Amino acid sequence: MARIVVLGAGVAGHTAALFLKQRLKNRHEVVVVSPNSNWNWIPSNIWVGVGRMTKKQVIFPLEPVYRRKRVDFRQALATRLHPEGDEAEARPAVDITYTAGDKKGMTERLRYDWLIDATGPRLDFAATPGLGPDGGHTVSVCTADHAVAAEKQLQQAIERLRAGEHLDMVIGMGNGTCTCEGAAFEYVLNVEHELRRAGVRDNATVYFFTNEHELGDFGVGGLTIERNGYRMRGEMLTESLLRERGIVPVMAAGATEITEDTIYYEQVDTEGVQQMHYDFAMLLPPFKGARIDAVDRSGADITDRIFAPSGFMKVDADYSKKSYDQWRAADWPETYQSPAYANLFAAGIAFAPPHPISKPRSSPGGVAIAPAPPRTGQPSGATAKAVALSIADMVEGRSDKPTQKASMAHLAASCIASAGTGFKTGQAVSMVMSPIVPDTQVFESGRNLKETSGEIGLAGHWLKRMLHTAFIYKMKARPFWWVIPE
Ligand SMILES: Cc1cc2nc3c(=O)[nH]c(=O)nc-3n(C[C@H](O)[C@H](O)[C@H](O)COP(=O)(O)OP(=O)(O)OC[C@H]3O[C@@H](n4cnc5c(N)ncnc54)[C@H](O)[C@@H]3O)c2cc1C
Repeated sequence: MARIVVLGAGVAGHTAALFLKQRLKNRHEVVVVSPNSNWNWIPSNIWVGVGRMTKKQVIFPLEPVYRRKRVDFRQALATRLHPEGDEAEARPAVDITYTAGDKKGMTERLRYDWLIDATGPRLDFAATPGLGPDGGHTVSVCTADHAVAAEKQLQQAIERLRAGEHLDMVIGMGNGTCTCEGAAFEYVLNVEHELRRAGVRDNATVYFFTNEHELGDFGVGGLTIERNGYRMRGEMLTESLLRERGIVPVMAAGATEITEDTIYYEQVDTEGVQQMHYDFAMLLPPFKGARIDAVDRSGADITDRIFAPSGFMKVDADYSKKSYDQWRAADWPETYQSPAYANLFAAGIAFAPPHPISKPRSSPGGVAIAPAPPRTGQPSGATAKAVALSIADMVEGRSDKPTQKASMAHLAASCIASAGTGFKTGQAVSMVMSPIVPDTQVFESGRNLKETSGEIGLAGHWLKRMLHTAFIYKMKARPFWWVIPE
């Protein structure tokens, strides 16, 4: 009996665990290691952050699902890999530290035959002094608890606006190297929607503060859309959404320090340090990989053989240093297998991208200001499923190498960005891009124009709301859960 250990129980880890169990039944052991007791549908945190959903609506406990599916769940944090085993045993292992229950604080060396790193992003608030809710001055919507705290501050701001104060409300990216611009874009549109609903919009100046050089870049180099025979950049769609709502964009900006009422930042095309005042700020952190190191059998450090300096796991990508004009879609990984150890894989945000997708830029003062490549829910689920099915095939002897491929240079992704909730008044921008990583060698604009689109409307809002219910249903592993696509 083989043991497959999955680190992380987010979109990727939980998807991988469910597919492994579906394929391998009880013939092999599936163990999930994750520090939190709940699963969180992170995209809906946006609605928690404006008070339109409760925390309870966006989370559910993992333990009952794993008990039903006979997955061994360890509520713990992975800290160190021993891919060659240790002096006691050659079987590989991962060190874990329990985070809850009777075993809280205890450590264990958990042996594995196969391991999937699906530890997602580490929220690197420390990258910008003063950033973030823990010890900093700004709020976040990255976790359900962050979103609850953001909503509280938003309500306080609305009360001040009702009392006649004028407030500066800044939403966006807390560092020049952030990714997930789409999430900040959704939150700014939702906050603006709530201010209008509360009848206080005129008293607030709302800013979208972003590291994008072009609106609508979203870390994927933007989109070209063909409609009625003419082509337009996604920038036009994004800009018009902000303009219609009177949201002021601050672009190509990288925050360098945040005090209790001021954001200091540099910009790509401007000399010197700028500053702007704020009363309410939701700024996302940059993402790093989980803090997991690795040692060989003798105990010597081999972290850099397995992980990139960012902390993300190196997989079957081309990581050789190349200039922007040499980047190719083929640089992106297909199987997510570690080149160092064949029984190690990464899925979701945990794999190291070979390079960004958006053009790298910096300020005259040398501050790096360009979006990092996003790995949204759909590719996170798709890569996890591919890795799980490959491992299942290898465990059962059907192949000696990965059987599934899920390159972001071939996968399409759809993304629905909420622009405000409400059964009749809601709106969302529905975007489809194919492929996610543009391939200019195959498509003139980098993407297949027949499969790339962007629309705004009420139907998008309903779809986004339906997806919330559908994904939580799927992740609770209810009957026929696997029919719902990633
Ligand atoms: C505010 C916000 C809004 C978003 N909106 C959208 C959207 O509308 N559409 C979309 O497609 N995507 C959206 N995304 C992106 C989406 O949430 C991610 O693509 C997805 O969560 C990535 O899945 P993952 O499993 O890689 O990481 P996660 O879902 O973050 O899961 C990582 C897991 O690893 C665990 N973990 C961390 N460290 C360790 C460790 N050392 N040991 C063990 N476990 C560990 C974590 O606790 C967690 O369970 C949004 C993201 C944010 C922040």
